[in-house]
Amino acid sequence: MPATLFSGIEYLKGVGKARGEKYRKLGIKSPYELIYHIPRTYLDFSNYVPVSQTVLNEYNVLKLTIFRKMPPQRIRGGLVICKAAATDGIDDILIVIYNNVYGFQALKEGGTYYMYGKVTGNLIRRELTSPVFIGGTERVLIQPVYPLTQGLSVNMVRTNMRQALNMMSAEPFETLPEDILRKYGLCPLMYALENIHFPESEEAAETARRRLAFDELLKLQLGMSVLKRGNRRNTAHRMDSDVDMGEFFRKLPFEMTDDQKKAVSEIISDLRQDRPMNRLLQGDVGSGKTVVAAAACFYAAKNGEQSALMAPTEILAIQHFNTLSGFLEPLGLTVCLLTGSLTAKKKAALRERLASGEIDVIVGTHAIIQKDVEYKSLGLVITDEQHRFGVAQRAALAEKGGSPHKLVMSATPIPRTLALIIYGDLDISAIKQLPKGRKPVNTYAVTGKLRHRAFAFVRDRLDEGRQAYVVCPMIEESESDLFAVKVYAEEAAEGDLKGYTIALLHGRMNTAEKEKTMKKFRDGEIQCLICTTVVEVGVDVPNAAVMVIENAERFGLSQLHQLRGRVGRGGFESTCILITDSTSEDCKKRMKIISSTTDGFKISEEDLKMRGPGDFFGNAQHGLPPLKIADIACNTELMEMAQICAKEILESDPELELPKHCTLKIDIMRLFEKEITG
Ligand code: ADP
Ligand code: MG
Repeated sequence: MPATLFSGIEYLKGVGKARGEKYRKLGIKSPYELIYHIPRTYLDFSNYVPVSQTVLNEYNVLKLTIFRKMPPQRIRGGLVICKAAATDGIDDILIVIYNNVYGFQALKEGGTYYMYGKVTGNLIRRELTSPVFIGGTERVLIQPVYPLTQGLSVNMVRTNMRQALNMMSAEPFETLPEDILRKYGLCPLMYALENIHFPESEEAAETARRRLAFDELLKLQLGMSVLKRGNRRNTAHRMDSDVDMGEFFRKLPFEMTDDQKKAVSEIISDLRQDRPMNRLLQGDVGSGKTVVAAAACFYAAKNGEQSALMAPTEILAIQHFNTLSGFLEPLGLTVCLLTGSLTAKKKAALRERLASGEIDVIVGTHAIIQKDVEYKSLGLVITDEQHRFGVAQRAALAEKGGSPHKLVMSATPIPRTLALIIYGDLDISAIKQLPKGRKPVNTYAVTGKLRHRAFAFVRDRLDEGRQAYVVCPMIEESESDLFAVKVYAEEAAEGDLKGYTIALLHGRMNTAEKEKTMKKFRDGEIQCLICTTVVEVGVDVPNAAVMVIENAERFGLSQLHQLRGRVGRGGFESTCILITDSTSEDCKKRMKIISSTTDGFKISEEDLKMRGPGDFFGNAQHGLPPLKIADIACNTELMEMAQICAKEILESDPELELPKHCTLKIDIMRLFEKEITG
């Protein structure tokens, strides 16, 4: 039987079992999946240089003729080195290929090739290491670069790709309806797949990538909406009894800002509906989201409904528990904490009280969504810093107690376009103003030379009664030369912070230790906390007014912003000192941005610009399916287009039942396979 697009990759002509295994290692199981093995970039072999003009220690394109191949040498550790001498007609260069006998075999003595690789050596003797090459007679000199593993040469992949594409073009298909292609100026799918692998020109490759990135973003958007659909069914938790919120507001030690009040009223009006709320509460660090959450819990409890607040770490759960009980217990509500580190007996007791409805508000880590936790009537689910939870966890939470209302709190001011993709069809309440009396944190970036002066400043502030954080990237010393909290604390105790009370805080301490330290810090018994990024999210100690960040180059913009948000939470003048000896352009730029603004939205947009959306999609935190094409190719405009398009499709065909959306639906199911089945 001839191979089909969806049969095993090993049945493709010339692939066979061994190579098939190699493809499978790359996650390619069928010719169809091979076609979606998208090149990361292209090499343009037309701009080759003579050997004498190569830049040492850089990648260069050359056109070379092989004049002598040496026999492969086997050296220690199973490593195989192949060498060949080549010339550009004037100068010679040695080609060295590690561990790729196949690749080496493809080079023939007397043959001429275009080659791309790193050139090392000196002015007299040069080496070209493990080059990518194509035949010197190729006409198309723009060649895709695939992420490969050993034993699969570019040429082999290209041959197999050609076969797979031929199979597909024998029965060409299209996932998007004609009207969408026209409306968004997209090329047909077959053209895109052909030109992403075998571009006629640079423009053709670009057109292809745009179409495929659009596809991917569209599918992601549609998939997220489909996943969330269940959540939009009628809820059993309509909360339409009138509640005197004045009772809540009057007990607060401060007056809520207008943005906070607006968020509360938006939430309450959602809770009154019989459609579950699905709202993102976005607010910069320190903007006061927790009290808004407390107001929502109060409203729910007065309607006879339980609320659950889930935090990503235990420290944060404990802190939320303290804050919420501070606000809510004086009003007669019962607030409890459930974390993984409670004893089985205590957990069981809590579970009973949850099931009986005695507890109004439960705060915890993911422990509160375990299967064995039952609620009497869970009406409101609040997740803090939701981007740290996976989609699957969120879904598990949403399943609890028949479509509860959902509120998501995020301190990462994600640009709206990204928020729409990551959170799907959420409504958004944004708190943009900071509470009265807050002063922006003064931020300075300095080199290690100024460390002692920085600490003189820290000591002055400690003497005034303030507290400080010192953040280091590592816990233990390692080869990396990065600062590690353990040694740092020892040295500071004898040096810059001698005579001050300091303590360690890092992720490898157990919860009890961490919480004990945090409590002491909150109570002012510890003056300076030497910590890792465990303090990054949500920790709230208003008296802390100085932060020193060591190896600041190690942190991204958004992360620096989050860290810095730990200070400047009281009425005190606050300072953040970033120490870095890095001279890279990228680092300089980050330091400049972070020192010049405290506006989280602006910072996150700059971050997006500098790193590209790939980093947002690339890390697994949000639990989205990985993007293959869009992460490197997409831009805000394309994302917005895909969003509009998804919305239009769902408006006309909410279940994707129309025949013209059939292939799209299958693709979405494939993309979300893991989420849906696991
Ligand atoms: P975040 O939005 O970063 O989670 P929090 O909810 O932790 O912020 O609030 C930060 C601090 O500001 C807390 O100490 C809180 O009590 C205080 N706060 C919140 N709202 C106000 C307000 N309107 N006026 C004064 N202080 C406030
Ligand atoms: Mg918070």
